[in-house]
Formats: sequence, C-alpha cells, structure tokens
Amino acid sequence: MARLLPPDVSFEKQRLTDGWVYMFRHRTLGTLGRILLQDVEGGRCHISCEVVGDPGDPMTARRAAIFEPIGRDIARQMEAATGPAPESFTVPKAPQEPTEIIESKVIPCPRCGAAAAMLIFAPAATDAGRFEDYARMMYPEYTRWNVPTWIIGPALGSGSPQDRPADIVKVWPVRESTQRLPPDRFNPLLDQIIAGHCR
Ligand SMILES: [Zn+2]
Repeated sequence: MARLLPPDVSFEKQRLTDGWVYMFRHRTLGTLGRILLQDVEGGRCHISCEVVGDPGDPMTARRAAIFEPIGRDIARQMEAATGPAPESFTVPKAPQEPTEIIESKVIPCPRCGAAAAMLIFAPAATDAGRFEDYARMMYPEYTRWNVPTWIIGPALGSGSPQDRPADIVKVWPVRESTQRLPPDRFNPLLDQIIAGHCR
C-alpha cells in the first residue's frame, strides 16, 4: 500500500474486533482520515473511508482533497485483492479508542467578565502536523467560544521558563502562520487583546 501514497502521507494499521483500520497522516496536515475494513456476512469485506474533522472547518476540505483520492485508490486495490476466501481471525477485545485530554484556558475580560481569549496547550505539538491535530480536535471548542485563540507548543531550548520560546499558532478567528515567541513577547500581545475587549 505504501507505494501508492504521496511522499508526505503515511499510515498505521490497527486491528479491530471485526476487521482492520488504517489511519492516514500527512506530514503537515496531521491525521487525514481512516479506512475501515470490516468483515460482513458471507465472508465479504466492507470498506469505508472517513475523513476526520469538523465539516465546518476549512482544513477538513484540505484534508479531504488529499485523502479521498488515496482512499478511493486503496479501496479499489483492496476490493480487487479480496478473494472468495478471506482470511479469518479472532481478536480478543475491542481496541481502546485513544482519548486525549487537551488542556485549554479561557481568559475572561476583566471589565465585562465575558470570554476574551483562549489558549490551547499543546505539549506534544512538535511539528506542523501535530499542531494541525490540536487545531482539528479543538475546533468545536474554539469556534463555540468564538474568541481569539492560540495553540501553544512545548517550550523550546533550555534556560529559565520565562526565556524559553515556544511555537505559537493563532487559529481563530483567522488562521495565522506559526510564530516562535518567548513568553515576554507573547504575553504583552495577549494582554493587549484582552484589554481591547468591550472597549
Ligand atoms: Zn469585556
């Protein structure tokens, strides 16, 4: 399957109780989607392709544009390879769907008390793809709050916490490019946004 993939796309295969799941990832866009292969009656295999992400998130369309052709090609290949005698196997238990707890903080306006900004802490965001994973998973949250939102990666380098920069991406209301900022440059920017609420 790997030879069908564009160079920036990789996959992982996991066993399910009734089949297999292939999770696809893009180097800079993070998780793209998955292909499920499930056994159905009569020894046939059902194939489904799913793009991850909120339908309202513009990034979902970008992921779909890359994943859908790959998914279609692979589904075709697998269908061609699924003979009349499919392999049979037993799986001891259903795999646990990994649940990730993402730390975030909504900062209220000191005057009116309404939400003024949101920070999402992303200690595992060590590359562009992982930042996209956080942006995708938290999309329903920050669009619901509808306040300026930043995803903050891990502190980089060494030294005192005040001096260590982090990669920071503003994701809402407008997606901006990654900035590498130490706390003493990011905090004034954040303070300014909060101070500007309900002016
Ligand atoms: Zn306010």
